[in-house]
Amino acid sequence: MTKRAFNFCAGPAALPEEVLKQVQAELLDWQGKGLSVMEMSHRGSDFIALAAEAEQDLRDLLHVPNNYKVLFLQGGASQQFAQIPLNLMRDDQKADYIETGIWARKAIEEAARYGAVNVAGSGKVYNFFAVPGQNEWKLSKDAAYVHYTSNETIGGVEFDWIPEVGDVPLVVDMSSDILSRPVDVSKFGVIYAGAQKNIGPSGLVVTIIREDLLGKERSDCPTMLNYKVAADNDSMYNTPPTFSWYLAGLVFKWLKKQGGLEGMKKVNQQKQELLYGYIDSTEFYNNPISQTSRSWMNVPFRLIDERLDKLFLEKAEKNNFLNLKGHRSVGGMRASIYNAVGLEAVQALVAFMKEFEREHG
Ligand code: PMP
Repeated sequence: MTKRAFNFCAGPAALPEEVLKQVQAELLDWQGKGLSVMEMSHRGSDFIALAAEAEQDLRDLLHVPNNYKVLFLQGGASQQFAQIPLNLMRDDQKADYIETGIWARKAIEEAARYGAVNVAGSGKVYNFFAVPGQNEWKLSKDAAYVHYTSNETIGGVEFDWIPEVGDVPLVVDMSSDILSRPVDVSKFGVIYAGAQKNIGPSGLVVTIIREDLLGKERSDCPTMLNYKVAADNDSMYNTPPTFSWYLAGLVFKWLKKQGGLEGMKKVNQQKQELLYGYIDSTEFYNNPISQTSRSWMNVPFRLIDERLDKLFLEKAEKNNFLNLKGHRSVGGMRASIYNAVGLEAVQALVAFMKEFEREHG
């Protein structure tokens, strides 16, 4: 019998079992064609139809307005850190960034290679345990765009509100919370997200961009990093990551079956309430993040007695709970509870944590 663990990995993360089974069933012979999706031409009508359907399903899920392009790109979210300024900020311009943790900082450092970056708001004063409120930000009047990170995957800090930045394009790294609940796409100039959390396998990054922002790239922007080139070629200027695109399409269909993003919001709300609720109820574990900034997707927690960390992880693994070790930069534990990690997985984790507390508390 196949053994499936409870997988709390931050990324590449758990995928819906139903989707994996479908991939397995279709691997040798996709829809009676006698080959897998990995082996077919991206210029053929089968793949083009499959790719368009995946895009449409994603548009449906997020209610993407017609004046936005949805791009299926490569290079991960890290490449978007460069691609954003290369496409939106000219030499003489500056951009505003909001610093909320490690991923925001990486985006800031990359953008600073191309132009002036103003850190308009920072969670540093809160030790990065909270996002800075907009009343604390000092936005520039003439910024090319405002960039923020809606969910800090390592810190476990998430915005539960969308910034108001007037006519300045709002750019968001939504890598670790896209598709976890409904969001108003029309508030943004650009949304980007690496796939390997809530979308599909790594190797793919999705960028949703308002059409009027296309064609503003710097003259030295490489062709492969030019959003307009990608948009004009339906994300197939070169060979796209076809298998990841196909699998993402299956995840979008699975999400539709779960009741879309309203459906996901309900389950994700229950999951995080259960886990934070338990952590807050005991003196054995702790989560330091301010109540209003707590991530629904990544829940870092500590054992008050750090000497028990190793034993906790060993026992967890023996009991089929994988990847609970916190990021190397912060230590402790982290449970990533993305869409494909069901309520039953979180219930089982909380039961395990309670049992561990009973034995060692
Ligand atoms: N931004 C955030 C919020 C992330 O969580 C990650 C990856 N964990 C990245 C950017 C970088 O993504 P990639 O590895 O796809 O470049």
